[in-house]
Amino acid sequence: MKYMEQRQQIVDFGKKLITEKLTTGTGGNISIFIREDNVMLISPSGIPYNETKPEDIVVLDLEGNIVEGTRKPSSEYHMHCIFYQKTEHINSVVHTHSDYATAVACLLQDIEPLHYIIGSVGDRVRCCEYKTFGTQELADEAYRVMGNNNGILLGNHGALAVGANCEEAFSVAKDIEFLAKLKIRAEAIGKPALLNSEQMEVVVEKFGTYGQQ
Ligand code: 13P
Ligand code: ZN
Repeated sequence: MKYMEQRQQIVDFGKKLITEKLTTGTGGNISIFIREDNVMLISPSGIPYNETKPEDIVVLDLEGNIVEGTRKPSSEYHMHCIFYQKTEHINSVVHTHSDYATAVACLLQDIEPLHYIIGSVGDRVRCCEYKTFGTQELADEAYRVMGNNNGILLGNHGALAVGANCEEAFSVAKDIEFLAKLKIRAEAIGKPALLNSEQMEVVVEKFGTYGQQ
């Protein structure tokens, strides 16, 4: 079977969605783009993460046709596909229904720059309008609102994160949940002091050299 390494990554990160409390049940989905073959691998629709096997991962072309696989692909394949069709740098998309991010998304509010970690997602975490799950309309709205950022909230639905690879997209999904939790907790006791654009520019620059190079 082709793409075993990427299939296993989707299975492993799917399990992490549950263990790291980024989703419940069969909510959320994960995909990886194989740029050299112009195909994407995506989690199957409605199969619990701890029961998903590498052979359940579905291979699709960017028109949404099944290239390989016996399972029905995630209902959100349009919302994954659009980032591979329209960008050169995104190779993985992670969608979650994490608690705090979804709570903020139900208010249709953005997460403002209340903590420097927002720099890993963008200038703020914008929330897109509500659209029915699994539709091209949701995909179009998510793509439009994402702009140059790495993550957004999906109105009355959840969160969406993108990255150069699956680790990066997953890490952004975690950061969005952390930021949503901070927003809810901070606003419960006061009005958070927001970072200004100069402070955020310094942070984004420092992120470029953060950690082990
Ligand atoms: P799938 O099981 O079809 O991936 O759908 C889950 C979901 O989160 C829909 O938005
Ligand atoms: Zn969803």
